[in-house]
Amino acid sequence: MSDASQNLEDLSWIPRPRLLALRRLGIETTEDLLTHFPRRHEDRTEFPQFPREETDAPICLCGEVIKTSLRRFGGWKKIFEATLEESQPNALSEPLVCRWFNLHYVQKMIATGQRIVVFGRPRLRGKRICMDHPEFEVIENDEEISIHFRRITPVYPATEGLSQRVLRGIIYRVLHEFPDAGWQPIAPTSLVRGERSAAIRAIHFPGSWEARDAAREHLVLSEFFAMQMLITSRRFESSARPGQAHCGSGALLDKFLHALPFELTVAQRKVIAEIRRDLAASNPMNRLLQGDVGSGKTVVAIAAMLLAVEAGYQAAFMAPTQILAEQHYEVLRRWLEPLGIHIALRTAARQEESVPLPLFAGDAHILGSTGCQPVVSGSLPDTKTHPISERSEGPSYHRRNLPHFERPWAKYAITFATRNHRQLSNKARDIILESILRWKDRRYELYAACVMPDHVHLLIEPMIERNRQGGNPVFFSLSKILQSIKSFTATRINKTENTKESVWETESFDRMILSESDLREKFLYITRNPWDAGVAEPGEDYHWVWYAGSRNAQVFAADCREQQAGSLCSPERERTSSDEPQITVGTHALLYESVTFSNLGLAVIDEQHKFGVAQRARLTAREPAPDVLVMTATPIPRTLTMTIYGDLDVSTIDEMPKNRGKIVTAVRETSKLGEVLSFLRIQLEKGRQLYVIYPLIDESDKLDAKAAAAEYELWHDRLHPFRCELLHGRMPAQEKQQIMHRFRRGDTKALISTTVLEVGVDVPNATMMLLENAERFGLAQLHQLRGRIGRGEHKSYCILLSSSEAKEASAKLAVLERTTNGFEVAEADWELRGPGDLLGTAQSGLPGLKIGDLKRDADLMRHAREAATSIFQKDPSLELPENQRFRHLVVEEQGKSYSHVS
Ligand code: ADP
Ligand code: MG
Repeated sequence: MSDASQNLEDLSWIPRPRLLALRRLGIETTEDLLTHFPRRHEDRTEFPQFPREETDAPICLCGEVIKTSLRRFGGWKKIFEATLEESQPNALSEPLVCRWFNLHYVQKMIATGQRIVVFGRPRLRGKRICMDHPEFEVIENDEEISIHFRRITPVYPATEGLSQRVLRGIIYRVLHEFPDAGWQPIAPTSLVRGERSAAIRAIHFPGSWEARDAAREHLVLSEFFAMQMLITSRRFESSARPGQAHCGSGALLDKFLHALPFELTVAQRKVIAEIRRDLAASNPMNRLLQGDVGSGKTVVAIAAMLLAVEAGYQAAFMAPTQILAEQHYEVLRRWLEPLGIHIALRTAARQEESVPLPLFAGDAHILGSTGCQPVVSGSLPDTKTHPISERSEGPSYHRRNLPHFERPWAKYAITFATRNHRQLSNKARDIILESILRWKDRRYELYAACVMPDHVHLLIEPMIERNRQGGNPVFFSLSKILQSIKSFTATRINKTENTKESVWETESFDRMILSESDLREKFLYITRNPWDAGVAEPGEDYHWVWYAGSRNAQVFAADCREQQAGSLCSPERERTSSDEPQITVGTHALLYESVTFSNLGLAVIDEQHKFGVAQRARLTAREPAPDVLVMTATPIPRTLTMTIYGDLDVSTIDEMPKNRGKIVTAVRETSKLGEVLSFLRIQLEKGRQLYVIYPLIDESDKLDAKAAAAEYELWHDRLHPFRCELLHGRMPAQEKQQIMHRFRRGDTKALISTTVLEVGVDVPNATMMLLENAERFGLAQLHQLRGRIGRGEHKSYCILLSSSEAKEASAKLAVLERTTNGFEVAEADWELRGPGDLLGTAQSGLPGLKIGDLKRDADLMRHAREAATSIFQKDPSLELPENQRFRHLVVEEQGKSYSHVS
């Protein structure tokens, strides 16, 4: 940013060790150095008299060392004491005792007769006034006094090997050698006052407190402005992409609203109007709908989708989990089918555990043992055996040596062979097939496997290993999958065969399945391989073929079409034909199946915090771009909205429907469980329903399923004779749905659950929630969970059981007792933990702010955002001459990106 930025090495006067220490702070140039801003300033214009009493605020004092001593205590430990006397003592003056515990180096630095400056909190210890571990500086000569004293003095973030005084001295000198170091202004003059170079000088060595504050404001505004220019450019860029208007006349919407059993709230009407404006515009909508749990976002989403449908487009409604997709689907059918809208449910099972794909649903079992070769009828194309090295036709295989890019939700055909054609015994082949099945549904979806005498074929789709915070899934890599199969089988085979030879070649071959016919062909190839290759006689049994079920070829092909991952086919731009669904509800996996939509006009994504920016980008990458509405029930403080969701327009529902019963929240100690139970039973007798939620650390773990079961046993007894059921993440989705269904119908009175229940579940008669070990949940999560109750007319009760005495936990829980407003909870959460924690790694996408403070400087962020927006409004591609100087701000440098939440 400064043209005259120089490498510090080129300034001959900085000694090498200092340069190295500076480098550890990331400081290499004069610009780095001068933007290494002070952490705070000390008023050293005049030192106050030594105190005679304790003070709460730290103070800065100057005095002469009249005595030092070193005392031992408790064996090895040492206290170093330096007694200071005021420079002009009077009769009432008390000396000040500075103490350092176990700080070896301090005693080497301080000696009798020196003048030192200390900064700390004076405390009364017995009769003496003491300062423990003060920051200190020794005054060495009078020339230095002008830099370090008799002024408002900067104090920098500390570093090893570089004392305050040395760092301050270097900065002072650089500032004087480069009085106007070519600091280009960053922010427009309408936003900031004064020159940037003056602000830089004043932030280090301000002439007054006012000058310091003005300089800081200038620099914070500049920093925020740069950030907002980048974010805003993105917002303008995405809305400048080719899109279409997707908005009907509203007749259908009116019909829907008339049929609703309630009136919309004012807030709901306001946001529908905002969305409608966006839909009617031809540039793509990118809007965030923020609203507390239960504020009625679904109705708004439906309204938006109806507008798109009326205009002849398809709409997609994506939920983060299977349960929620299912629930939305039911709501939509209830409300929209009377209007003649065609709705479909699509949940590609990836997001949820262990739901077999429709492709192979039903009869999944191990075939090898029952043995026959049933898969393929003669009518299917004849797939010949051909060696994998043959690459003449079709897509080619990769040697898996280097990691290469693997697509999410992709299927792969994989082949790996034994070393030196080592022949696998029957026993060895059993072991291999068993191990392949061992990781099935845990690391990959398995479609077909065949263990040949000297090689193995697999047809798999890697599963999600974990979700990065921010929602982007990380998939099991092929290399990890193969590595585990190979090493696991090799050990066991060699053990049974009592050798030590290598079993497998190190390399393997994989190929991504590219199309439906490709998948079908590969499937047939693998499942027919032993017969085609002559390893088994026709009609003979081969035990080591496994596949996931049989269907006739046509169904198979049709299902393949639906399941095919990736956007292989470009969608045709035609009006939705009559047999296609107008609204498709599904999990986020819908995204990856662009073939599902021929004419997508609007995508609604529920629960943004589980949904990464990259995923959103994938959706909006289609051309022409659909309108996108993301909904979140995790309110975040407004300043953060401007940065984290800065590339989205934001609509907020800030009002709850009127018919809501109150939620009373109470924190109780675990020892009071008895009382709590009798209260719950009274409510159950009145017909209300209950959620019991307990925290699990890792839902994918088997152990936790066990813990869940144990938990359930307990509650079963406690609540007898009321019927309760268990719900946890390891259950097959279908079972979960049935459980939810019974609960919704009221057959089940209590649900013992993990946090799978978290988002969006809506059962108005469930008015009680008991959270076990409540302190283990985050504040935002607790608020989310609590949003499951208070959805009906009855008064609701949320009981936070906690055994923890920890102060922090009780402060957290007290927030929930105090308020049910999500924005207040979010602010409190921010207060307690800071934004980094609040957003998890979401925050890591934000640059390390050098001087601005998102919380304290919220107003400045707003100004900066307005300034950036107004520039882009007038000149979206920064073409005007006066805007040329801002262009560099919107060039994204690698590794520097402001609003990526993934
Ligand atoms: P969320 O914002 O958490 O997604 P929902 O859309 O699930 O909230 O709405 C919660 C419940 O409130 C639903 O049962 C819905 O039918 C109902 N609801 C939505 N809007 C209103 C309203 N204006 N008045 C009364 N009830 C409403
Ligand atoms: Mg919802």
